[in-house]
Amino acid sequence: RKPPSRKGSMADLPKDLLAEIKSLEEAFTIDTAKLKAITKHFVSELEKGLSVEGGSIPMNPTWVMDFPDGHETGTYLALDMGGTNLRVCEITLTNNKSEFDIVQSKYRMPEELKTGDSDELWEYIADCLQQFVETQQSEKPTQGKIPLGFTFSYPATQNYIDEGILQRWTKGFDIDGVEGQNVVPMLEAALQRRGVPIVVSALINDTTGTLIASAYTDPKMKIGCIFGTGCNAAYMENCGSIPKLAHMNLPADMPMAINCEWGAFDNEHKILPRTKYDIIIDKESPRPGQQAFEKCIAGLYLGEIFRLIMVDLHDNKDVHIFEGQDIKALRKPYTLDASFLSAIEDDPFENLQETSDLFKDKLHLSCTRPELELIRRAAELIGTRAARLSACGVAAICTKKNLQPCHVGADGSVFNKYPHFKARGAQALREILDWPAKSNSAAEDPIEVLAAEDGSGVGAALIAALTHKRFSKGNI
Ligand code: BGC
Ligand code: MG
Repeated sequence: RKPPSRKGSMADLPKDLLAEIKSLEEAFTIDTAKLKAITKHFVSELEKGLSVEGGSIPMNPTWVMDFPDGHETGTYLALDMGGTNLRVCEITLTNNKSEFDIVQSKYRMPEELKTGDSDELWEYIADCLQQFVETQQSEKPTQGKIPLGFTFSYPATQNYIDEGILQRWTKGFDIDGVEGQNVVPMLEAALQRRGVPIVVSALINDTTGTLIASAYTDPKMKIGCIFGTGCNAAYMENCGSIPKLAHMNLPADMPMAINCEWGAFDNEHKILPRTKYDIIIDKESPRPGQQAFEKCIAGLYLGEIFRLIMVDLHDNKDVHIFEGQDIKALRKPYTLDASFLSAIEDDPFENLQETSDLFKDKLHLSCTRPELELIRRAAELIGTRAARLSACGVAAICTKKNLQPCHVGADGSVFNKYPHFKARGAQALREILDWPAKSNSAAEDPIEVLAAEDGSGVGAALIAALTHKRFSKGNI
């Protein structure tokens, strides 16, 4: 589907709203030249992250050193601690090439855990694992400990595959006593206290899991991306191109998956256009100055950017919006999530009924037709900027590694559910990489961003299997 354009209908709007729409368009629109400039800077920042001095993008080596060949077998447990849910899976890689069975349970991450204390977090996770193991595996007596692939989707330093020293919390998490620590012994201690026979055999980022799971079923997949609560990507590098690992004397052509942590791109504010709303988001977040790129793209922030715009316009005396109404509900930070914007963008433009209902139900506000049009345009601008910026990251990795043509595996709520995100991203890629506009179908583009396999489940199991294979061969 082509993103809709409706400039014509705006002419009837009151002057103040029209002027606001215009200035929002100026603030949020990223033209082709800017996309290219961002991508170019991105490529050099990826390089910098691999250097000994380092840069703002962490470029974390993950010790995932091989793509699966499709013949991996065995049964593995996987734990996915994302930004929103906690999921436990048992994955069986079958004897049939590239096939697997999966049994899983989902648990909601209680909101208060995200800013609570460290013990509560590990106890809660251990509880979920214990429940799962006791119900799923009751008939199968296990000898020894069950190997677990732990998908921990935060920036972590790894000197080994079963280590993860949290660099910093992202996605609104703020739990004391974990940053700077290896999270593996913390989880294992909580499991041990309960007598749950599980050992963490690999700590995995969701992007690395996505990369590996996607490559398992589609060997053309060269990058794994997440566009969800947070945003990030992983790809395979050669050890010879990772100066910060030079001291380890690894063979130059040995592959190593790099978890870019590209959410940190432009933390020093050199290139991304920043609106006043981005500045507020950053300032009010638990980690100001961090994740500058992520804060423009990830699902956690899209609804909040929109909310800040609405409050700002209401409070602006020259703009008449929600006049005479109490905007108390709208003033509450993080009340609107990305699904709120998705619904607005999905609403048929003719009557914007759904949008009107949402504002009534959730925010107790009634909207005039001009207000509804402004609301719709604001959502489009936020969603479009996110998709276009995300393409800069994809283009940067492809450029750095000379990956055209290739497939990119993507997962996450924004990628899978946000209207037009894929089409807008594909359009931006065409502009950045100068592909002829011969068609509007991404299927004919040299780089296609496609829905990925389940990285935190299947990917984690595959990585656990690959790790086992590597260690049993006596390798590092
Ligand atoms: C984290 C990454 C993760 C991404 C997507 C970011 O906030 O730092 O590790 O891959 O979110 O979940
Ligand atoms: Mg996830």
